[in-house]
Amino acid sequence: MAQKIVVTGGAGYIGSHVAVELLSAGRDVLIIDDFSNAHPEALARIKELAPGNLELLERDLANPAHNDDIIAAVKAFGADSAIHLAGLKAVGQSVAEPMLYYRTNIGASLTLIRALDAANAKTIVFSSSATVYGELNDSPVDEAGKTGAANPYGRTKLIIEDMLKDLAAADGAWRVVNLRYFNPVGAHPSGRIGEDPNGVPNNLFPFIAQVAVGRRKKLMVFGDDYPTRDGTGIRDYIHVSDLARGHLAALDYLAGLENGGALDINLGTGAGYSVLEAVAAFKRASNRDVPYEIAPRREGDIAEVYANAKLAQKLLGWRAEKTIDEMCADHWRWQSNNPDGYNTKV
Ligand code: UDP
Repeated sequence: MAQKIVVTGGAGYIGSHVAVELLSAGRDVLIIDDFSNAHPEALARIKELAPGNLELLERDLANPAHNDDIIAAVKAFGADSAIHLAGLKAVGQSVAEPMLYYRTNIGASLTLIRALDAANAKTIVFSSSATVYGELNDSPVDEAGKTGAANPYGRTKLIIEDMLKDLAAADGAWRVVNLRYFNPVGAHPSGRIGEDPNGVPNNLFPFIAQVAVGRRKKLMVFGDDYPTRDGTGIRDYIHVSDLARGHLAALDYLAGLENGGALDINLGTGAGYSVLEAVAAFKRASNRDVPYEIAPRREGDIAEVYANAKLAQKLLGWRAEKTIDEMCADHWRWQSNNPDGYNTKV
């Protein structure tokens, strides 16, 4: 019998790539998504890329009125485990509306845990973030690094990580991996699914891509006076398909464990690129100009952060394989084929 996996937030940027990866590996998938930051067209594209058993439950995990439906659906699906990606993720908005973030991200997690408990499917891979390391560590940062998020978004990730650890400590049947993502970028190599941000992108890659395709005039480079090789911020960009494979590796790892438990694992490449290096790579891949202007530092940004990714290699047998040039080429294929994201008229 195929493994049955619930993917919350499965219609979103990372979720759609995870779903394709799972379906391609012969797993059955139930996506729970409320489409608050995802497009129904993504589902059609997932089906096109990966035939298999895909079900959808359009519900809001954080809405108490939807709890009963969700619990019933997870049971009826016969779930074995879940990959939990549903949640809000805009740092700036989380500062302005912290209660929305606590209610949504933590509420969604509580509902999912209840549903998995009811289905006796006590295995969960959680979408955490390198943001939990805050500004407290030198890079490369490993999983033993100090944690302390710098904003409400990051704090919801830490709280959920801790919640899952408490759960696993209290009931040895729970198996938990908190995946701490570095900076996911790129798109499926087909160019059919990718990131489709609402409004003005907050993150570097979608912004660069929209400049390259002519939707925006120029990129603002937030600070060129950091103590880095060219003065701009350094991050560990990771191809979203590599990241998606990491989820499957985490599930397989948990399935093979003798006992339950919870642990944190970084998903990054272990290499850092500066903003200007990312711009140069994107220009090469797209053959387009990417005009930019140096602007003041963005509040809350740090000079550099990149992963020590050795634990993922050791425990999961996983490592990132795609280069920055492949990240840019795939991101560009998605952006140029779908200049207005999933709303692009064909
Ligand atoms: N960045 C930038 N201009 C932008 C968006 C981001 O210069 O319009 C920089 C930002 O200061 C950081 C890097 O690009 O050094 C990555 O930013 P992103 O928001 O993508 O990720 P995060 O800051 O969460 O790591």
